[in-house]
Amino acid sequence: MKKYCLLALVMFVFCGAVYAAQSELVSFQSVTEAQNRIDRIGFNILNSNGIENRTVFDFSIKRIKNAHSRYNNRQIVLYRGLYDRLASDDEVAAVLSHEISHSVDSYKGILRGYFSGLSYSLSPKKYEYKADKIAVDYMVNAGYNPVAFIVVMSKTFPQTRYDWYSKHPLTTRRMMQVYEYIYKKYPEYLANNKYKDNPYYQNFLLASKANRAKFQNKIETNSKKQVKYL
Ligand SMILES: [Zn+2]
Repeated sequence: MKKYCLLALVMFVFCGAVYAAQSELVSFQSVTEAQNRIDRIGFNILNSNGIENRTVFDFSIKRIKNAHSRYNNRQIVLYRGLYDRLASDDEVAAVLSHEISHSVDSYKGILRGYFSGLSYSLSPKKYEYKADKIAVDYMVNAGYNPVAFIVVMSKTFPQTRYDWYSKHPLTTRRMMQVYEYIYKKYPEYLANNKYKDNPYYQNFLLASKANRAKFQNKIETNSKKQVKYL
């Protein structure tokens, strides 16, 4: 009996080791695939937009739901926690385009942009709105659908209670600014909207009813004033 128990234990340990080795292999392959995909999309955005400032891209396996641009070494990090939520190249391009805009800003100013990080910290919301709009331009120039940016925000960006205690503007405001920018500059993407049946886009339409009514009013009255979205 003892012999069978020992055999079962050996088999169990062996199967466990094989399984662990396989998962390690799969995860290694998926990391390489993710990095290659991010590089392909990121460098396409840089080249299609004629961006002369160098930027590199790093895929991190940490399950953080975020991406950020490092101002000191011009490296954009996209974490697996956010990457796994991105369903298409358009959506990956949305995140990278926003971060590339920050990276381009990091080159501006004296001493090769030494104080650019400080400039950002002094008025982060201004830079966030700016990066969102530039991201739309970058996406279109590189052949990606900018409506995907609204989809990414709709499904992954949380909604804080107030604008003032967060570094980032309220997501509802950011989505409306992007929507307004696409509406004015690239209306064809809304007129022939490939995301119209996407559940995250539909939720944006539902949750932005009041804001879109404000925007509609702005158009009808031909107002030039910036709408204060909720
Ligand atoms: Zn940002």
